[in-house]
Amino acid sequence: MTTPPPLVDRAEGILMDTYARFPATFVRGEGIRLFDDEGREYLDFAAGIAVVQIGHAHPRWVEAVTDQAARLAHVSNLFSTVPQVDLAERLVGLLGWGRAFFANSGAEANEAALKLVRKATGRSKVVATGGGFHGRTLATLAATGQPEKHAPFEPLPREFVHVPFGDAEALRAAVDERTAAVLLEPVQGEAGVVPAPKGYLAAARDACEGAGALLVLDEVQTGIGRCGAWFAHQLEDLEPDVVTLAKGLAGGLPIGVCLATQEVSAAFGPGDHASTFGGGPIPCAAALAVLDVIEEEGLLERARIMGERLVETLRETAAAAVDVRGRGLLVGVELPAEIPARQVVSAALGRRLVLTQAGRNTVRFTPPLIATAQDVDEAARIFGAVLEDET
Ligand code: PLP
Repeated sequence: MTTPPPLVDRAEGILMDTYARFPATFVRGEGIRLFDDEGREYLDFAAGIAVVQIGHAHPRWVEAVTDQAARLAHVSNLFSTVPQVDLAERLVGLLGWGRAFFANSGAEANEAALKLVRKATGRSKVVATGGGFHGRTLATLAATGQPEKHAPFEPLPREFVHVPFGDAEALRAAVDERTAAVLLEPVQGEAGVVPAPKGYLAAARDACEGAGALLVLDEVQTGIGRCGAWFAHQLEDLEPDVVTLAKGLAGGLPIGVCLATQEVSAAFGPGDHASTFGGGPIPCAAALAVLDVIEEEGLLERARIMGERLVETLRETAAAAVDVRGRGLLVGVELPAEIPARQVVSAALGRRLVLTQAGRNTVRFTPPLIATAQDVDEAARIFGAVLEDET
């Protein structure tokens, strides 16, 4: 009998070449640990890409998903389902206002937001930020402030203007009576974990108010406890008009949601927007379990405390780093330009620590929010050793 080729070789050639995959095949996860097809154990400080919020195979999550799968998996959005309405109520409760539209991903949640703000204001210009990342559909790609990602797909939808992230004056100057919305991440994730300077979100709020535009916060990566609060903007004193979520919300199942104030939501009527799978019973049941676990296990506070510990410990162990920064358990280590982040992520994988790259030269740490002090110290120690090897 001939042995089949390794999965990584089978993937190449049969899957489109859109991802620079690493040579590991994970077959099981438990809590903060992953296991590969040769039984090796890894410490998971990626959690997908900031998705597996309560860790792998949390018993509450598994029970919620399997119960719901056995009960009802799909009926379309032509009918109400208990998990979807329960989840909308929970999210609106956490936010303090609004109505929900459910989708399947971050890009789709943002796409819904972009259509909604156009219809609600009758305007089409959107002010977004350099480095900002909002998705890969044509409109969310146009909103993404990374021109190198635009080039092969021009022409993109027009009417997106980009201003330097963090520059309140530039933002104010760009927002005018043609502006439907300002679209921002409270912490730019994909750009390299760049938190908005204090007061920037409030300045955006003011600029929108002055021009009759709407403030849309993309909390796809920063929301659902990642930064130590349900929503990262709650760490500051302001209320946006629209918030989008995805990634961590269902703890590993596909979901996206666009939440908007009652007034803005009223712009959408039947037929304006839709999704066959959006807000299906299983991802919504999973999301309800994620919210329960975050609440019951005190994971917002844990994310704050462990995030601070991770930043402090990395500052000690990663001596070669240019900067260590973040909010809660969204942490980035910026490397000197001559050390490619991918090389460091790859070397960390070799030492059984799973990380991701963000931006050109930042390594991102986004462990499940259940990370303990021991996990944090272990990750910082391994990373320090990796960096020493690579410098
Ligand atoms: N918005 C932000 C802030 C993100 O970080 C991402 C993904 O990284 C997206 C949108 C797109 O989400 P998705 O890949 O689920 O479409």
